[in-house]
Amino acid sequence: MFDDQSRLSERLDDAGLLPAAGDFPAEGRLAVRDPATGDLVAQVAVSDAAGARAAVDAAQAAFADWSATLPQDRAAILHRWHGLILGAKEDLARIMVAEQGKPISEARGEIDYAASFVQFYAEEALRPNIEGVTSHLADAEMELWREPVGVAALITPWNFPCAMITRKAAAALGAGCTVVIHPSAETPLSALALAELARRAGFPAGVVNTIIGDAATIVGEWTADKRVRALSFTGSTEVGRLLYRQSADTVKRLVMELGGHAPFIVFPSADLDRAVAEGIKAKFATSGQDCLGANRFYIHRDVYDDFCARFTKATQALSMGHGMDDPDIGPLIHDRQIDKQVAHVKDALAKGARLLCGGKVDDDLGPLFFHPTVLADVTDEAAIMTEETFGPVAALSVFDTEEEVIERANASEYGLVAYVHSQDPRRIYRLTRALQYGMVAVNRTKVTGAPIPFGGMKQSGLGREGARQGLEAFTEIKYVCRDWG
Ligand code: NAD
Repeated sequence: MFDDQSRLSERLDDAGLLPAAGDFPAEGRLAVRDPATGDLVAQVAVSDAAGARAAVDAAQAAFADWSATLPQDRAAILHRWHGLILGAKEDLARIMVAEQGKPISEARGEIDYAASFVQFYAEEALRPNIEGVTSHLADAEMELWREPVGVAALITPWNFPCAMITRKAAAALGAGCTVVIHPSAETPLSALALAELARRAGFPAGVVNTIIGDAATIVGEWTADKRVRALSFTGSTEVGRLLYRQSADTVKRLVMELGGHAPFIVFPSADLDRAVAEGIKAKFATSGQDCLGANRFYIHRDVYDDFCARFTKATQALSMGHGMDDPDIGPLIHDRQIDKQVAHVKDALAKGARLLCGGKVDDDLGPLFFHPTVLADVTDEAAIMTEETFGPVAALSVFDTEEEVIERANASEYGLVAYVHSQDPRRIYRLTRALQYGMVAVNRTKVTGAPIPFGGMKQSGLGREGARQGLEAFTEIKYVCRDWG
């Protein structure tokens, strides 16, 4: 167990990573609890609507100078932030385990991933942002300038409490925007620690503003505020729709990284050992609480029984425990997540599925530990085949033909990522063309990273994060046409 758990607050306070109060008007305090034990980890000051407005005031006031800063100076501050994040990796990882519950190896991996966006956009800030146009008008010369939009609001979830902040903030800051950040109420400590490291890196006052508080109140202020020119949200499709509507009156630029419902498709030519190992990662990473999590496994009839047996054996071998013991699976974040697992298992069984393993809470470990679960013969009518489960329950289903599996995989309002396992190049080509997903992973699970444009089709989102494309929502194109007369 995490033997210095009780001293975590003290340790982080000593490191200066736990500010007692924010920079903006605060009302009351928010208790942060360890999802594995229910223990109180820390209390943080929360802001109200006045605090949210004050953050925009500060960001707006800082925008003129920050956007005029030379790119190499912005890049230098981002590079310092990158170095400080990596330097504080162990503390940041422990904070994450304490408030989010994920295994410490995954938490360390997330810090590396989070830092990589800061490094990438430090370098991207230096790339030319002027493009010439071949003139179609006599005597005129034309250019396209990319300019920062202004204040950007960044709204992030609890499942990747550091990476979802840096993926947005580094792009916005590198582009010359100032930011107001609202992290999830479940994981404010990671956000506050990143904010403190940003201050130490030398971002001028008002450039990075992190506000903890009631989401509807804080984010509601920001969506209504016409000074906030861009809004980047990662979270559920349901809240995404709400923020889309709320942003309409002020016509904000939007990035929406929303829910997923990934199909995981295995053909007979696949390397089955590899497909099982990658399937375990695609299902159980982040204890199943991952927008890229495989929600539906479609396995060809020729290898179905074999896959079911091997996948169940691999699932039963997964360890569960407190994140500091570095198990394969930690606790879920709150009881609503547990309720969803229970409901999806019950519903699938009622509609004809078979339970191969798991299916219940581990009472010995605690109320938020759900046994990794495998369901076979899950029918398309089961809720788990259309609703995001966001937990450690795998739904396996058999298919016969390529046409059938493409139709079933695409029969979803989500379109974030799809996984395909096959060694037939022509089949892989047809599948990757036909699947309506923003990302297609072939014979592997890990596909993300700072240089790739992450994002989904359909109701999985709008726009892309990471890569050059991640700058688009934070910049506007100004077209200039000059005639020297
Ligand atoms: P959520 O939509 O419930 O909340 C996300 C954030 O939105 C919260 O942390 C909060 O700050 C804010 N929020 C919540 N209710 C709000 C309201 N009424 N008004 C304004 N803001 C509000 O999502 P969650 O449970 O925190 O995260 C899980 C979801 O996030 C899953 O659907 C998952 O697929 C998605 N997700 C997507 C990606 C991606 O990149 N596509 C990455 C991680 C998570």
